[in-house]
Amino acid sequence: MNINLFGICLISVSVALIAPANAGCPPGLTLADVAPPTDISRTFIRKGLGEYGADRKGGTKKHSGADITTRLTTTDPMAYAVFAVAEGVVAYAKFNGLTYDDGWGQVIILDHGNDCYSMYAHLAASPFIPWADDKAQPFMVKLGEKVTKGQHIGFFVDIDKGLDSTGNAQRTAAGARWQTHFELIEAPSGRAGSGTIKGDIFGNDGKSVDPTALLLDLGYKIEDL
Ligand SMILES: [Zn+2]
Repeated sequence: MNINLFGICLISVSVALIAPANAGCPPGLTLADVAPPTDISRTFIRKGLGEYGADRKGGTKKHSGADITTRLTTTDPMAYAVFAVAEGVVAYAKFNGLTYDDGWGQVIILDHGNDCYSMYAHLAASPFIPWADDKAQPFMVKLGEKVTKGQHIGFFVDIDKGLDSTGNAQRTAAGARWQTHFELIEAPSGRAGSGTIKGDIFGNDGKSVDPTALLLDLGYKIEDL
């Protein structure tokens, strides 16, 4: 936390009286505190099913974040790197399944304080195994570890092995096999665990927050894959 964050926090408290929906997150994360979660020059928000609030194919729930994807045009591994958007603590780092309800694959959630978490799903951390044999893989960061803004925490494609993103990313669309799902979560800070995301992070009072405005401010474009 820095002085700037506390200053914004005071503002968001007053805003909360009018519009509680986005009171803590992301207003608690100002642009000065935030770095892009991927290489903006080589990735974009996937239009259509990848947008926040889109209908989920094969499920009843709306899409709860933004899918950041690529056209897989380079063999540079860093084109597929995922970075911490702000300083924080690793609150969750676990393989989270294949189905539409829990199909996040390899997922990391960071606690940034100020009741704001960020989530990065469908990650691959070398060595990586494609979804047909999907199972837990090593993570680049561990539960409870502190991370800095912009710290490299994973990859969403293992380009060296020509393998795709984990979890149900590979089921929504052919091109969606290369993406990370980025989501902001507003929930009381200090939560962590290695059980379910719902139980350990959301609880009964947490909710997803649309990250689109933040991503657009950071320079992302929304494009067809
Ligand atoms: Zn997604």
